[in-house]
Amino acid sequence: MAYIYTAKKLFSFLLFFMMHRRIFIKQSCLVAAGVGVVGNLLAHAAPPATALRVNGKRIETRIFELAKFGLDDKGRGYRVAYTNGDVQGRAWFMNLMQKAGLNPSIDAAGNIVGRRSGSNPLLKPIAFGSHIDMVPDGGNYDGTLGSIAALEVIEVLNENNIVTQHPLEVIIFANEEGGTIGSQALTDGLTPAGLAQKSPMGLTVEQGIRAIGGNPNALASCLRKKGDLKAFLELHIEQGGILEREKLQIGVVQGIVGIVHWEVTVQGFANHAGTTPMNQRQDALLAASKFIVAVNRVATAQQGNQVGTVGKIEVQPGAYNVVPGKVILGLEIRDLSAAKIENLFAQMQQRATAIAAETKTTISFNRQANAVAPALTSPAVQKVVETAAKSLGLSTKYMQSGAGHDAQHMAHIAPTGMIFVPSIGGISHSPKEYSTPADMANGANVLLQAIFQLDKS
Ligand SMILES: [Zn+2]
Repeated sequence: MAYIYTAKKLFSFLLFFMMHRRIFIKQSCLVAAGVGVVGNLLAHAAPPATALRVNGKRIETRIFELAKFGLDDKGRGYRVAYTNGDVQGRAWFMNLMQKAGLNPSIDAAGNIVGRRSGSNPLLKPIAFGSHIDMVPDGGNYDGTLGSIAALEVIEVLNENNIVTQHPLEVIIFANEEGGTIGSQALTDGLTPAGLAQKSPMGLTVEQGIRAIGGNPNALASCLRKKGDLKAFLELHIEQGGILEREKLQIGVVQGIVGIVHWEVTVQGFANHAGTTPMNQRQDALLAASKFIVAVNRVATAQQGNQVGTVGKIEVQPGAYNVVPGKVILGLEIRDLSAAKIENLFAQMQQRATAIAAETKTTISFNRQANAVAPALTSPAVQKVVETAAKSLGLSTKYMQSGAGHDAQHMAHIAPTGMIFVPSIGGISHSPKEYSTPADMANGANVLLQAIFQLDKS
């Protein structure tokens, strides 16, 4: 029993306490109430939480171990969701979670969820994690860093006999790359259309969920409500080149951008390219070209991180000798503010009206149903991440995420934060994706310290 001491032990403990009071006071913020203060003070072998660091080598080793599953003919790991590589990688990960005492289980949507008890069972869990599935021909860091770092946090706590007050949950989301399926199932729910959607390997989402051990008939069982979690944190590679370019170590993510798509139809008149004089043409491609330039001008005319792209074009009839009669474009606008997206679109529409008049064409817009609303992270959790990074002496930048993440759905139900580390060359979704071991360890240390801070608050 923790409370029974001999007089001699108590005396030596008191002496030690006098000598190391500052360390004890720091540490006592984090210790389990159930163990008792005296018991905690005796567990003096553990350093204060603020001094704890992850094992960077272990993170690096595990990144490469996970990368070996589902080797393709080029000798590269292939863990596209619901494939054999994914299933094997998940089994390997669950085994590690089991060894770390997380007692992992697969929820109805196929998410892997592990739990570590806190000293106060009345408190809501602090959750963190990411995904280990990848895009075809993807790299070794997207999602896997956040997943392996989440496990690393648990290992560090285990090794230092630290029990947080809040229960901790490690969540490895299923099929992130196929449309953040697992995190949607957990927060907003999946629609029948979503379940019927084909994944890149040919299975529908419904079949895929079964393939990884989930149960699409019981999806209601994995739904979380707003307020179920104290907070959610996701560490991720930046996937862009801003941090590296600015020589910064940690990105404090303010939110994940909203995305809206429009199909733009430019209607002109197809006619003989040899006999139609230049001033008599209704050239849909000429109008479309002017519009593409206009999109770029509108997106770059104001301050901010907004992006506007025409990434798709289809020309009809598409021949050397015919003035193009019809062009269909794919327009995308992304920003952290939904209002700004609408404002940019309104300006682009205005330009389109002028271009249509000038080129004797018509330009119409069809908003697509797949719009993603911007998801803002919690300012309080942003502050926690920033403070954690600063406490480690790391440089930070508040930034947005231009790519989608599981965190964007988790933000609907919990105060959410994201931690970015540099992606070398800004490359992602490619075998060339790379983050340095030092940057990975930095990110994992920020995750660890942020969890300590959330636990105290
Ligand atoms: Zn990812």
